[in-house]
Parts: sequence; structure tokens; C-alpha cells
Amino acid sequence: MIGGGQLAQMMALAAMPLGLRVHALDPAVDACAGDVAPLEVAAFDDLAALHRFSDVCDVITFDFENVSAPALAELAALRPVRPNPLSLATAQDRAAEKALFARIGTAVAPFAVIDSREQIEAAASSVTFPAILKTRRFGYDGKGQINVPEAAALADACTRLGNAPCVLESRVRFQRELSIVAVRGLDGQMLCYPLVENLHVDGILSATLAPARVSDTMVAAARLCAERVAEALDYVGVFAIEFFDLNGVLVANEMAPRVHNSGHWSIEGAVTSQFENHMRAVTGLPLGDTAAVGVSCMLNWIGEMPDRAAALSVPGLHWHDYGKSARAGRKVGHATVTAADRQTLVDRLVLLAEKLERHAQIEPVLERLRAPH
Ligand code: AMP
Repeated sequence: MIGGGQLAQMMALAAMPLGLRVHALDPAVDACAGDVAPLEVAAFDDLAALHRFSDVCDVITFDFENVSAPALAELAALRPVRPNPLSLATAQDRAAEKALFARIGTAVAPFAVIDSREQIEAAASSVTFPAILKTRRFGYDGKGQINVPEAAALADACTRLGNAPCVLESRVRFQRELSIVAVRGLDGQMLCYPLVENLHVDGILSATLAPARVSDTMVAAARLCAERVAEALDYVGVFAIEFFDLNGVLVANEMAPRVHNSGHWSIEGAVTSQFENHMRAVTGLPLGDTAAVGVSCMLNWIGEMPDRAAALSVPGLHWHDYGKSARAGRKVGHATVTAADRQTLVDRLVLLAEKLERHAQIEPVLERLRAPH
């Protein structure tokens, strides 16, 4: 497992009962996967360490996609790498990702690539404002992004992003944000989790509602997109695609070539979790059922963990503390509240908001659950 964060930790936990053992590699001595799996502390591009590490592995996978291309090529020469380097390379680059979506017939926000300052003017005239400037690489959780209200602000925004290669994209006036987590096995078998609804605060995922209340047409469109992406990349493992719901049309935002925060609910809310299915897929085992069991709400704990005892008094609540130190903006844990039906989920979340005094985080979720559609 290249990367030793909470995703690696949850995959290591899911691997254990299958008789699989995860070894993690991460530059941080205190990477939280080290609590549950042997941890090799090394930089992601330390080729000698990658060699040493691959000696003890049968197959290599990731909880983190920003590994350099040379390091990936080195790994791929040593052991099977799943998902493959093409999948990682595509997802690492917002321009390549958008080109793939467009190629398979999925809508994307109008965009222009800005690789040098000479392209600023042309980009400004081909995209409508307000827009968002995003670095092509190494952006996550809203980092490496700047709002560009009007064309006149673009040159300055490029400077603020260090003149890094970027994409400029029009701001989509979406009604909501949705995502689909899918898994493709070594034999090409493909399964999708239900489409879920995501609520963000400051560009960071705050809550996921599973399943989302969407039309069958939207579910079919999301599944078709996921199937085409997986086939185009000859993908093996779990991945996620994030969409904007624009008047019932799915506009693809980005893909993550790994297990995804919007799939954490599946640990308790689905027949087989995304973490177990990723472990099954990359080791060539048959995939598990991705159906939801009842309804769930996953809440991210960002910055610090709330009061555990207060939260655990809520029925149907499942607690996940990654064992990370508290830091502003950092994902340190999550909880998933499960229920057999929507009304019970609402009641449980109302209780949780009171117990934790977290009305600001939970009220928007309740609003979504109480909305007629
Ligand atoms: P990203 O890093 O691309 O996932 O963006 C983080 C968040 O910024 C998304 O979840 C959206 O809430 C918002 N965002 C990104 N791109 C757009 C866009 N083109 N239009 C409107 N909101 C966006």
C-alpha cells in the first residue's frame, strides 16, 4: 500500500479477515496505517525503498494517487500495480481527466487549459465567468484552487498559483453534489455502489447521504460513466467519480483512482465495504455485493474528534477514530449513522446534533433529508 493514511488503515482492517496482510509505505513516521499494519517510512520517490518494499509484496496498490511517474514505472516493473499507472496518471491530471470524460460522452464544465501565461488570454475568452482556476496536478480538498470572478482577475490568479499548469473552468450552478463509487475486478467484473449525495464545507467533504434520492435515469447515467471510465483505463480496484447535478444532468467534476471519502458509509451501510472490495479486486478475488442496507449518513470529523461517549449513545452510530493528532482542516475521523428508513435516520441525526452540539454540521443534512425530493 503506497500511502499510510486513514484510507490505508481502513483497507488494512478490511483485508485482515480475508487472510490478506497490508504493508504500508509513507513518508510520515506517525502515518495512521502504522497502527494496524507494518509501516515502511520512506519518501514516495525513494527508489531504493520502493525496491525493498516491493520484495515483501505480491501486489501494489495505493491510498494516495500523487506518486511521481518515475516511481510508478519503477514499481510497475517489480510487481503488479493495481490500479495501473495509466489510471493514476489520468486521475493526477485534471486536463487528462476532463478529456477522458468528454471522450466517453460525459458532460464536464466548460474549461480551458493554461500551461503558460501566453494561454491566459485565449482561456479567458473561451470560458464563461465566474470561473475557478485549478492546478492540473496535486490539488485535493479544494487546495490549489482560486475563484476567478471575472476575466480581468485571471492573470493575477495564475500568479497566485505560481504559474503552475492549470485548468480554468466555469463555475457550475449545480443543485447538489453527487458521487458514485465503483469497483472493477481483475476479470473485468464491474459493480457500482448507489449514487450518494455529498455536502462540502470550504471545499472539504462534510457529510455523505447514501443512497441519494435521484431518478433512475441519473443512476443509469452515473453507472454508464463509471463503466466507460473503467473500461477505457482497464481499471482494477475501487474508484470514485464526483458529479454536479445540474438540473438533472450529471456534470463530471473529477475521479479518484482509489477508495473515496464519499464511500466510507459502505463499511456499515452496504453489504460489502469499498475497502473490502478494493482488497478483493486487487488480489483477484470475486467482488462482494455493493447494495446499500437501509440508509446512512457519514459525517466527517475535521480538525478534532467530538465527544465519543456522547456520540456512541445514539442508536445506529458507528465511530471511526483514525488516531491522528488534531489539526485544523485535517480529517481525523468519521461517524456513520445507519437506519432502516429515512425517518429513523432523521431522528437519530437530530439526537446526535443535540448530543454533540453540532447543529451547524448536521442541520444541512437534515434539510436535505426532509426536502420533498
Ligand atoms: P475539486 O477539488 O475539484 O473536487 O473541488 C472542490 C469543491 O469545489 C467541489 O466539491 C465543489 O464544491 C467546488 N467546485 C469545484 N469545481 C467547481 C465548478 N466548476 N463549479 C462549481 N463548484 C465547483
